[in-house]
Amino acid sequence: HSSCGKSTLARMLAQALDYIYVDSGAMYRAVTLFYLENQIPDHATLVSLLDTIRIGFILKNHHSRTTINEQDVEDKIRTMAVSELVSEISTISAVRKKLVKEQRRLGQIGGIVMDGRDIGTVVFPNADLKIFLTASIDIRTARRHKELLTKGFDLSKDDVRKNLIKRDLMDSTRADSPLYRAKDARILDNTRLDKADQLAIALKWVTELRKK
Ligand code: C5P
Repeated sequence: HSSCGKSTLARMLAQALDYIYVDSGAMYRAVTLFYLENQIPDHATLVSLLDTIRIGFILKNHHSRTTINEQDVEDKIRTMAVSELVSEISTISAVRKKLVKEQRRLGQIGGIVMDGRDIGTVVFPNADLKIFLTASIDIRTARRHKELLTKGFDLSKDDVRKNLIKRDLMDSTRADSPLYRAKDARILDNTRLDKADQLAIALKWVTELRKK
C-alpha cells in the first residue's frame, strides 16, 4: 500500500544482506515527471516517447537517487504534483511493459531487494522471499505527513490521507497488474512496529528460507 514504509524496509533489508535496493515506484514517478515537465498532451504521445526516457539510479552519500536521461530528479519525483498523477500514468500498459522489462534486467543476476505493488505477482513471481507490507491508513497518513513536512511541503493531513486512499484504490482496481497480495507472500503489518522490529522479522524470514 501507499506510504506503508516499503522503501524504508527494503533499503534496510538490502543493506543488512549486502544486496542492491531497487525502488520500482521511483521509476513510475520518473515517467510521470517526464510527462508533466514536457507538458505531454495525452497518453498516446507519452507512449510514443517512451524510448527517449532513460531511467537510472546514482549513489550520492550512500543514498540511491533517481535520474532521467542522466539528470538527478530524486527531489522532483517526490512532490505532490507527481503523487497526484502517478497512479494514472501507472495504468498505461506500455509504460508498465517498459518498466517491468527494466526491473527484470536489474534483477536477473539476483541479490536484490525490490519494492513495489506488482513485484511479487508480476515482475518476479519466483522471488525467494515475498513480503506484503501494510499498515493502517491513520499511521500511513501520519508518517507521510511528517515526511512531507520535513521536506518543506506544507500540506494538510487530510490532503495526504485523500491522496493515499485515491492511490490505493486506483492501484488495486486497475486492469493491468493491480496491487494485491501474492498467494505466497508473507504479510507484515507494521502499524505497531518500529523499523528495527520490522527488519528483525524480515531477516528471520530470510534465515528460515536459507536453511531450507
Ligand atoms: O512506491 P510509490 O508510492 O513511490 O509508487 C508510486 C506509484 O507508482 C504507486 O501509487 C503506483 O501507482 C505506481 N507503482 C506501480 N507499480 C509498482 C510501483 C509503483 O504501479 N511496482
